[in-house]
Amino acid sequence: MIGAVFRGPGHLEVGEVETPEIGPDEVLVKVGANTVCGTDVRILRGEKTRGIGWDVVLGHEVAGHVAEVGRNVRGYEVGAPVVLAPALACHHCFYCKRGMENVCLNKRIVGNLLDGGLAEYVRIPADAVAAGNLSVARKDLPPEQLALAEPLACCINGLTHYRVEPDDVVLVMGAGPIGLFHLQLALLAGARAVIVSNRSEARRAFASELGAHVTVDPTSEDLAEVVAEHTEGLGVDAAVICAGRPQLVNDALRVTRKGGRINVFAGLAGEGWAEIEANLVHYNELVLTGASDSRRRDYDTALRLIESGSVAAERMITHRFPLADAEKAIETSAGGEGVKVAVMP
Ligand SMILES: [Zn+2]
Ligand SMILES: [Zn+2]
Repeated sequence: MIGAVFRGPGHLEVGEVETPEIGPDEVLVKVGANTVCGTDVRILRGEKTRGIGWDVVLGHEVAGHVAEVGRNVRGYEVGAPVVLAPALACHHCFYCKRGMENVCLNKRIVGNLLDGGLAEYVRIPADAVAAGNLSVARKDLPPEQLALAEPLACCINGLTHYRVEPDDVVLVMGAGPIGLFHLQLALLAGARAVIVSNRSEARRAFASELGAHVTVDPTSEDLAEVVAEHTEGLGVDAAVICAGRPQLVNDALRVTRKGGRINVFAGLAGEGWAEIEANLVHYNELVLTGASDSRRRDYDTALRLIESGSVAAERMITHRFPLADAEKAIETSAGGEGVKVAVMP
């Protein structure tokens, strides 16, 4: 089969690899689509190295159909539409036992340490099958839409940290795929208004189409002023940072009301340092949170939201590439002109 193998920073080799063979407790999935993630871009650039293996097929946002079922496996039929929650937790460590499987100490990720979805087939390991990481979709939607369950699940995990209550005003900083998902989740959760800030006019226009009440160009408008205008001068109830620019952390602290919640959802560029006015946290009783990866329950929620059309999955896919052009797909994603880029074997 054809696969896109990460051979080290700057080197993605697309070519013939061995078609995986499955054991009696495993499932083989014929990949329908693998959407490209900012993480894939960072892996290929050599910016993300922790938990990343070389000579591994990249791709962790994968959906397809069951091609083969191991003889001990129940609950899957050949041809069923499936999506994979790619993070394999150990279910035994301190965090797993406390329901925080997304930060498992022994986590392995399909597409990072195990062969992933930028290939014609992907093997679902026995522990992933046993743990229910492979979900059967209730609706046979186009696979590139189902593949979005992965990034959406991560955003749902983020939402549990910054919470949105009815009548809240929420600020989403950044309108890439992740920001656009947070916008939609905040609306679903009952936000009275969502303010989206982004430099790109096209992205702001898309955010408006998806329901943003206000959009801000932070390069030409004063974010604090716009927020004050829409919150009776109080500040937003919650802010979520969906772009990796370190100064956004302080910007978020400045425009959030007392007792408000801030979530550092994006991984920050460089070493990840951000200089913040910590007295804002102190005097304003701000709640500063993070978010990493997702839990299987978030994945199920994400899948249901996509199946029901509650989230605009179809419109989020702006580019499609064949597997042979996997590198170009990743470059296109990095270029930022589209929203989500799908690779379709
Ligand atoms: Zn991803
Ligand atoms: Zn664990």
